[in-house]
Amino acid sequence: MNLVITKIDEKRIRNNIHVDRHYGVWYFTDNDSGLRGFVAIHRKYKNKPSIGGTRFFPYKSEKDALNDALRLSRAMSYKCAVSGLPYGGGKAVLIGNPHNLKSKALLKSYAHVIGHLNGIFYTGEDVGIEKGDVQFMLHHANFFVGKKGQADDPSPCAAKSVFDLIVVSAEKEMPSRKLSEISVAIKGLGKVGADLAERLLKCGVKVVGADVDAKVVARMKKKFPQMRFVSPTVISGQMVDIYAPCALGNEFTKKSIKIIKAKIICGSANNQLESSEIATMLKKQGILFVPDYLANAGGLINVADELHTRGYNKKRVAKNISNLKSTFNTLYDTSKKERKSMYAIAEQITAKKVNC
Ligand code: NAD
Repeated sequence: MNLVITKIDEKRIRNNIHVDRHYGVWYFTDNDSGLRGFVAIHRKYKNKPSIGGTRFFPYKSEKDALNDALRLSRAMSYKCAVSGLPYGGGKAVLIGNPHNLKSKALLKSYAHVIGHLNGIFYTGEDVGIEKGDVQFMLHHANFFVGKKGQADDPSPCAAKSVFDLIVVSAEKEMPSRKLSEISVAIKGLGKVGADLAERLLKCGVKVVGADVDAKVVARMKKKFPQMRFVSPTVISGQMVDIYAPCALGNEFTKKSIKIIKAKIICGSANNQLESSEIATMLKKQGILFVPDYLANAGGLINVADELHTRGYNKKRVAKNISNLKSTFNTLYDTSKKERKSMYAIAEQITAKKVNC
């Protein structure tokens, strides 16, 4: 192991538009295992740790990876606040293709990075990091969440909160329609997307899906013959009631939103909007955008419960996930009253908590 961890001087990233008074950013490399990445902690409150997943992704450049860490860590603070959790947000990104770069040596080295932070940051699964990786890294540092026998895999809980909010948003926007009369398009049929598809299909919802990975599509076709599949290039423009983006973020831009025909967007992908003004544009287009950090908060609620002083409790997790529906109702009603997008209202309310 040839691990080098450097705390990035604030002045060096001062001009980065994604910096939002971050608590700290670290850069790390290990030339022996090929490990390279960033940890960004957005907020850290008193004696509480900050929390957020670790993403392993083939970023085109270190700059892209850093920007993602900065943006995603901020979103984690908002997700904690909207979920009523007392933690600040953080995020780690590892640079490279996990399919050919991930090794025991690399994961061990990364666990040492997390160990070096000594409990100010707890992390776990995200795109490119699986539950088996988390269990392995727990042998080398304690500060991972998603432990076997406790929270385990957060994806089913993330899918549950997306599902719940799809149901309540459909009730609000299409009150005369039964679930079995509603159609949903899902982009990305990975851990969350596949689980969400299953929950929807069980209720008789018509589901159309897409994934860039042909193996994933083949598996889904076999498991759910009643589902329809289209190319990922056309999934967002499907003639459906609800669009659920469950792949990667940054999907909605001024240009890309023009083709959306769904009346509701509610999916698990983090940071779906290229910028906050897109939420206002979606509202003008007559589309209800359910803030991503609210829709997918079930995953965080589940893993963060391992940090609870009384230890992990499945019932409390279920109750807290269920509470997201009343948070949704408050945000929805306020947005109607103030004639603003639900995203703008969520930002307004949670920003007060995040920046307290
Ligand atoms: P995953 O890696 O298991 O699945 C993502 C899927 O999206 C993969 O099958 C991939 O092939 C597909 N994909 C990638 N780009 C695509 C594209 N352009 N078009 C169609 N498909 C594409 O990840 P996941 O755990 O299911 O997470 C999905 C999203 O939800 C991510 O943005 C993640 O950050 C977010 N999220 C996940 C959790 C969780 O607990 N897993 C919690 C909260 C948020």
